[in-house]
Amino acid sequence: MGASADNGATSAGIVRTVCPRDCPDVCGMLAHVADGRVTKVVGDPDHPVTRGFICAKCRGYETWIHHPERLTTPLVRDRKGGELRSADWDEALDRVAGRFAAIMAEHGGQAILPYSYLGHMGIVSSRFPDRLWNRMNTPRVGAEICAMAGAEAMLRLVGRVRGTEPQHLSRTRLYVAWGKNPKETNVHLWSLIRDVPIKVVVDPFESDSARDADLHIQPRPGTDSMLVLGLMRVFLDNDWIDRDYIRRHTTGYEALAERVRAVSLDAVERVTGVPRDQVISLARLYHENRPGLLHIGVGLQRNVNGGEMVAAVAMLAALAGQIGVRGGGVLYANYDWRLNDISYGHLRSDGPRMYNMVKLGRYLTEDDHLKALYVYNQNPAATCPNQRLVRRGLAREDLFVVVHDLFLTDTARYADVVLPATSFAETRDLQLSYWHDYVQINNPAIPPLAGARSNRWVIAELARRLGFDEACFRQTDEDVIREALQGTGLDYEALTTGPVLWNDAERTSFDDGVFPTPSGRIELYPFDCTPCPDEGHPYRFITPKTMRLQGSQYGNMPDKLGDQATPWLYIHPGDAAREGIADGESLRVWNGRGEVTLIARVSARVQPGLVVSYMVRWGDNANATTPDRGADLAGNSTFHSNYVSVAPVAAS
Ligand code: SF4
Repeated sequence: MGASADNGATSAGIVRTVCPRDCPDVCGMLAHVADGRVTKVVGDPDHPVTRGFICAKCRGYETWIHHPERLTTPLVRDRKGGELRSADWDEALDRVAGRFAAIMAEHGGQAILPYSYLGHMGIVSSRFPDRLWNRMNTPRVGAEICAMAGAEAMLRLVGRVRGTEPQHLSRTRLYVAWGKNPKETNVHLWSLIRDVPIKVVVDPFESDSARDADLHIQPRPGTDSMLVLGLMRVFLDNDWIDRDYIRRHTTGYEALAERVRAVSLDAVERVTGVPRDQVISLARLYHENRPGLLHIGVGLQRNVNGGEMVAAVAMLAALAGQIGVRGGGVLYANYDWRLNDISYGHLRSDGPRMYNMVKLGRYLTEDDHLKALYVYNQNPAATCPNQRLVRRGLAREDLFVVVHDLFLTDTARYADVVLPATSFAETRDLQLSYWHDYVQINNPAIPPLAGARSNRWVIAELARRLGFDEACFRQTDEDVIREALQGTGLDYEALTTGPVLWNDAERTSFDDGVFPTPSGRIELYPFDCTPCPDEGHPYRFITPKTMRLQGSQYGNMPDKLGDQATPWLYIHPGDAAREGIADGESLRVWNGRGEVTLIARVSARVQPGLVVSYMVRWGDNANATTPDRGADLAGNSTFHSNYVSVAPVAAS
């Protein structure tokens, strides 16, 4: 096979690369290369956000790039239930293309579901495959597994998914991490806010950020909209509302104010568990310390009322007149990327039918209309909710499963064909962040490792075998990037030499008072605090992110996980005593969807009635219990709207 291993990489030197992880920091990195191997990867000292360091889990990136378990040859399975065996690329790709062609002939492209997310955030790696899916008329999955409810809430409220940029954090007087643990999951922001005078964390769990904060507010999970109503009530009672701002920039204020006046602080305390004194204190801090930034974590939205809660927090910033203020306002994410569309939607003649990616298990098990699944940049057997249903679906006798990945992941173990993927160090790609506005090209540091091929290369080869001769499938990585950059004002060559700021450093989002909503204003509205169904189990179970886990991507490298190599379940001492649970004991954690064994960590870091375990691990994990119902907006995942029962394994 004439696999193009020549990606332009040199065999020695220092190469500017970019971390492709699904992480807001999108670090600029320097890869040190000798004899065709990456020997060291460090943070780029010249990158204004990275500033010379990368996070603990990615330190030692070279051990992941050259990991002995990297796949070096395609694997195929001759019959369901049989063993995977090595194959060459021609055999593997012919097998995939042949099966896809047969399915398309009999059922149409709508029977083949591509399944991906942000295992690699590069534009080429994540979006080039869209061309083939459009040409094949396949269905598509949305991006429901993480952030969409919050994005939709921001779009409805202010018209863009935008907020305060990192270059303005030096102005911030009060920083509120709302449902966010930046010390672990946005480490460069944590470094940038070191000198912010007051830091507050709103989180049901005492995270590492909460431990370091000046004030930790600990609402019951999912009650944040009630907490916001309480803060708004204090604002109204004290006439702290910015009435001039409300008049100039918002609609719907009177209806919202009427709703707020109907809420008592007693009710807020009863529902949220937050003492009314703390509610008043936080409101006062927010009023008196401007600019104040409300930074909403991507986690709040993973609830049945996720859109409601994100919108509520953002509306508080509007009442305070802070949206559009440098260093203040509200930030959920910054991802209105203005790239040229490279997906070639015009190749499509049908559809696409859209599938909610968190309901994969249902689609695969409730009927057999899907005949094939092509998985890349994702590991749904580990990361998708309702894990047992997903696995049952992946094991379906008549389902043709293809996985393109670097490792034999949980999902790959169900595959009929496994294709070895390249790492970021082996490809050229364009990287953007959903937090900062620095854009950069990831230069390939080394040629593809033996047997590994990039997403673009594999998709192009499949297109060729399927007889699709459009020129777009013959583009190089550079061609694709140049096309994505057309009309953006960004210069390809400049992006290869380092980060380029895409926006005016002096401006901040919404400082022009332009809100691209139907009314041209911030569209306020009254909201409630929607409860979560407990499904008959006593403990609310949330599964936040941590510094040590990046989706499932380091699941086979326990040394990366540190203390989190143990699948802890944090449980309050009072609950542990009542259940007869000792610290360090193996626990059954279950509900109607499934069961998993976790290890008790008895700790007052959780409130009574709440249990917490960090996500995601390979093998059976907390997703055995997590629900696949959609949130209130955008069909978002609801990992945190989950209830379980807990008991010592020994008592079973
Ligand atoms: S995971 Fe995030 S913090 Fe860590 S190196 Fe990658 S971009 Fe940087």
